[in-house]
Amino acid sequence: MQPFHSEYPKTLDEVISLLSQHGAFAKICAGGTDLLPNMKHELLSPQIVISLAHLENLRGITVSENSLTIGAMTTLKQIVEDQNIQHFAPSLGDAAYHVAGPQLKSMGTLGGNLCLDTRCLYYNQTHFWREALGFCLKKEGTTCHVTQTGKKCVAAASNDTATVLLCLDASVDILNQDGMRQVMLKDFYLGDGIKNNILKPNDLLVAIHVPKRTTSPVKRLEGFAKLRHRQSIDFPMLSIGVRFDIDTDEKISNAKVTINALFARPKTIQTDWLIGQSLTPDTIKQLGQYAKDRCTPLTNICDDPSWRKEMIAVYIQKACEKALETFP
Ligand SMILES: Cc1cc2nc3c(=O)[nH]c(=O)nc-3n(C[C@H](O)[C@H](O)[C@H](O)COP(=O)(O)OP(=O)(O)OC[C@H]3O[C@@H](n4cnc5c(N)ncnc54)[C@H](O)[C@@H]3O)c2cc1C
Ligand code: SF4
Repeated sequence: MQPFHSEYPKTLDEVISLLSQHGAFAKICAGGTDLLPNMKHELLSPQIVISLAHLENLRGITVSENSLTIGAMTTLKQIVEDQNIQHFAPSLGDAAYHVAGPQLKSMGTLGGNLCLDTRCLYYNQTHFWREALGFCLKKEGTTCHVTQTGKKCVAAASNDTATVLLCLDASVDILNQDGMRQVMLKDFYLGDGIKNNILKPNDLLVAIHVPKRTTSPVKRLEGFAKLRHRQSIDFPMLSIGVRFDIDTDEKISNAKVTINALFARPKTIQTDWLIGQSLTPDTIKQLGQYAKDRCTPLTNICDDPSWRKEMIAVYIQKACEKALETFP
């Protein structure tokens, strides 16, 4: 591990002051499950690591009339086990459950998951490995081994909770020395694999707001499905979230589908054509085919992109089945 200096602030004011002083040379450490492997691989070399471990007020889940507010330092394990999440945002609990394995869920936080760096077969490797290939655009190089051009990094957003939180219209609170701002999650991600979110070096993600599931008069159905090699630990090869609002006449009044682990920004599928239809096996099949036709998986993740493309329809079906199953 490269040498670095660490800070353990106890208050938000101290964090913000450290970030405004050292932002460009510092990295925030929440659970450290993404940051530390990336530092070991020499992908990141912060001079200062600012740990959030002592900020108890960034942990926990509160319930208000219409939404859940989740502190950025709430662990994925807490989210999986929380009864309010199970009741009011079950797809978030399911997505958190499917992140990594048990030890990583105990350390990994929701804030860290939303800020997860993009991933690529040619990037998440040792310095020696990357050097042998002449590096790449995301760090130290001039070309992209996926697109074979020097124009754009298409490393994949691989954060499973972002997949469902985008379907649920979540928003995030971001704090810096100028104050707090609230941003819809759909405006948080950028299509650039080098850095795929809007956070500036002095910004801290503080909390996540999730609108609560409604059961009447409109029913919100939500589901998640993930394709990965080993169910016990691996990053997604596809991460799919669906959400349907069903009216009193049993017709869809709002639908959202997000597919993650394709490109730098989680992909939202246009679903207006579903409005007014019933959620039948035929509609689900049509939706799977429609989404599949609009996605082109790349070689940024291991495995045959054409196989991953075929799997899109299969995993949309699984996410929809989950949505129907989990409705009370
Ligand atoms: C073997 C393995 C398997 C994994 N599998 C998965 C998987 O299947 N799905 C998945 O989604 N992830 C996976 N991960 C990645 C990671 O464990 C999780 O995404 C975890 O939720 C990251 O949270 P963290 O608190 O550990 O983040 P950290 O590592 O602490 O931080 C991640 C990034 O976010 C920034 N950051 C953290 N908190 C904040 C904040 N509050 N404000 C601003 N910036 C912040 C950090 O500076 C860093 O850049 C895996 C990791 C490993 C090692
Ligand atoms: S997508 Fe291209 S530029 Fe980005 S990390 Fe992979 S190889 Fe590097």
